[in-house]
Amino acid sequence: MALQQMFAGRTERMKASEIRELLKLLDQPGITSFAGGIPDPDLFPADAFTDAFAQALSPKTQSVALQYSVSEGYLPLRKWIAGQMAKIDVPCDPENILITSGSQQALDYLGKLFLSPQDTALVGWPTYMGALGAFNPYEPVYGQLSVNGNRSAEDHAAQAKADGGRVKFAYLSADFANPTGETVDQRGRESVLELAEALDCAVIEDAAYQALRYDGDPVPSILALELARKGDLEACRTIYCGSFSKTLSPGLRVGWVVAAKPVISQLVLMKQAADLHSATINQMAICTVAESIFDSHVQTVRNVYSERRDCMLAALEMHMPEGVSWTKPQGGMFVWLTLPAHMDGAELLDVALDTEKVAFVPGKAFFADGSVANSLRLSFSCASPEMIQDGIRRLGRVIRATM
Ligand code: PMP
Repeated sequence: MALQQMFAGRTERMKASEIRELLKLLDQPGITSFAGGIPDPDLFPADAFTDAFAQALSPKTQSVALQYSVSEGYLPLRKWIAGQMAKIDVPCDPENILITSGSQQALDYLGKLFLSPQDTALVGWPTYMGALGAFNPYEPVYGQLSVNGNRSAEDHAAQAKADGGRVKFAYLSADFANPTGETVDQRGRESVLELAEALDCAVIEDAAYQALRYDGDPVPSILALELARKGDLEACRTIYCGSFSKTLSPGLRVGWVVAAKPVISQLVLMKQAADLHSATINQMAICTVAESIFDSHVQTVRNVYSERRDCMLAALEMHMPEGVSWTKPQGGMFVWLTLPAHMDGAELLDVALDTEKVAFVPGKAFFADGSVANSLRLSFSCASPEMIQDGIRRLGRVIRATM
């Protein structure tokens, strides 16, 4: 019997990410790509990391840096994160924090923690496709989380029961979401908390882009709002997932989870079973760099990306034909474009590559049921203002020609 025929049932829902497949095609010379949602490598604080790794490998600490370490994560880093969380009104102990290998690992663990087959995960429509990829192997049913939506908790619960499970969590990225760039306002966040209370389920708050705000006032995190209501982190149902990927470096794979202690304890057991701990030296380097330059570095990143965001919004205004609309993000890396209903983002991509050498991610893969095709995601993080102006002009031309 071929080994493929022996793979477990859960592998049936593990598909190659459309974006990854696409990126292979798009990262070719001559193509202006707004597809890759990755940080600009020119912004990595490489000198600071060179020093931090040298420091970690110095005779005094090399035996720590190169050794196994605890599954919870490097304590000085958890203390630094606790300090950051206090600044956003989530005071917590290091025992409320687990260091993960990127926030992507946290999403996998949270799927593993909560989802039995046929349980319901409420997600945005669209949502981060990497979250769908993380949850899929646990064989959930997806329900549509619409913030301030008209679907009652009773309806969600009844549907989940009919599907053979119950609603286990609502997952959302409330700040500058991937793929839409949109932010959920305070009322919307409160409505998610109220829905989760009524359903007695968890809230997974994906804060991957939270530090990248370019204008407007910060909205309290969902966890901060819940903590303000309940006064005790141990009573909170929100699980906050943070990441250093968009601020310092994605390649070092360091993220974190903040939650009530029993949740963290179970996740620690999962981490022990999965990979023991995240790379010790990477956590030490992130800690050193964060302690010395986090705020100033993030400000630099914000300045660069906000200029690119402005440039993209201005170019869209100038070059998009009537009938096309787009989001106006206050931060993050993405603009979400909606085409007239009859158009298909994937078909448009073929023509755009062919005729105008411009690339983006078709929106369909961000919908759990793949039901919406007339949208696309544009990323401005890696494009210079000149590339943006020229690329959006060409995108406008191909959209007009296809309409
Ligand atoms: N959440 C969102 C919304 C993301 O866009 C990403 C990265 N693209 C992640 C989580 C995972 O990031 P990381 O594992 O690098 O922290």
